[in-house]
Amino acid sequence: MAARYLELFRRGELNRRAHMLRCHMEFCMLCPRRCRVDRFDGNQGFCRLSDSMMISHVLPHFGEEPPLSGTCGAGTIFFTSCNLRCIYCQNYQISHDMAGRQIDVDDLSNIMIDLQERNCHNIEAVTPTPHVFRFVESLQNACEKGLHLPLVYNCGGYENPDILAILDGVVDIYLPDFKYGDGNVSLRYSGVRDYHHHAVQSLREMIRQVGDVLETDGDVARRGIIIRHLILPGEIHNSISVLELIKEHVSLSVPISLMAQYSPVPPVAHHPLLGRTITETEYETVVDRAVNMGFDHIFVQEVNDEHQLLPDFEKDQPFLWDDRRRNGR
Ligand code: SF4
Repeated sequence: MAARYLELFRRGELNRRAHMLRCHMEFCMLCPRRCRVDRFDGNQGFCRLSDSMMISHVLPHFGEEPPLSGTCGAGTIFFTSCNLRCIYCQNYQISHDMAGRQIDVDDLSNIMIDLQERNCHNIEAVTPTPHVFRFVESLQNACEKGLHLPLVYNCGGYENPDILAILDGVVDIYLPDFKYGDGNVSLRYSGVRDYHHHAVQSLREMIRQVGDVLETDGDVARRGIIIRHLILPGEIHNSISVLELIKEHVSLSVPISLMAQYSPVPPVAHHPLLGRTITETEYETVVDRAVNMGFDHIFVQEVNDEHQLLPDFEKDQPFLWDDRRRNGR
C-alpha cells in the first residue's frame, strides 16, 4: 500500500496544499487557539513560534504501539513547542522550555530520507500542528528525494478540523491524543474549556479520511488511526468521559491506546493530584470500562508505580525505557 501523499505529489497537489496552509498562517488559525497573528511578520501566538520550524530530537522510536514501532522503530521527529502546553506535559522540556534547534525545509526533508535509509517503518511527526505548513513543504521536498514511507501525524487532539481537511490525502496514520472529556479538567490543566468539543470534531475528520481501523501490512501499520489517552492520577472520571465521547460521537471500532505511563514532571511534582503515578486499580478501572463499553481493539500497558518513565530530552537518547512495549488486547 503506497503512502497517500505520493499521489498528491504526482499531481502537483502537495504544493497546493502547502500553499493553503501558508494562507492560514498569515492570520494564524492553524489550531483552535486562533491567535490571528501574522507569523510571517515575526509575530508569535500562544505557541511562541514565528514562521520557522524547530525540532528537538529525531530517532527510531521503539516505545510506540507495536504496529508503529515494528522491529526497526517509528521514525520520530519531535517538533519544538505545542499549541496546548498541559501543566503536566511529559515532554515539557520541548513543549514548555522550547528545547530544540531551528531547521529549514531542506534540512527536514534530509532528515526524513535519513530515517527511511535507517529502515524506520514510517515518518512520525510529533506535535506538528503549529509547524504544519513547513512540514508539508518539507514533505514535498522529501518526495523529490525519494521518500515513500507512511506518514504518521501524532498530535495532542486540539486541532482545527478545517486544517485537518487540507491534510486529506497527505496523512496515512493519525495518532491523536484524546486527553479530556470534561471541560473543567481541560481548563485546569491546559487552560481551555473547549478541548473535548474540538477533539471530537477533529477525530471525526481524521476518520473520514483514513477510516476507523488500523490497516497493517504484516505486523506494521500502513493506514488508519489509533486514539491515545493518557490516564491521569485521581482523574478517572475524566478518562471515562473520554471513552463515552468516543463511543457516542466517534466510533466503537476505532483502536484506542490506554496509557499508564504518566509520571509527574518537576512543575507538578507537589501537585495534590498530579504529583504521583497512577495505581494499578485506577488503570484496571479504565480498561475494564472500555471493555464493557464494547471497545475491542485496545492497546494496554503495564502499570509501573515504582519507576518513573519520563523521557529526558536533554539526553541524546531520551527514551531509556523504550523496552516497555504496548500490547494489543
Ligand atoms: S498554531 Fe500557534 S499561533 Fe497559530 S493559532 Fe495555534 S497557538 Fe496560535
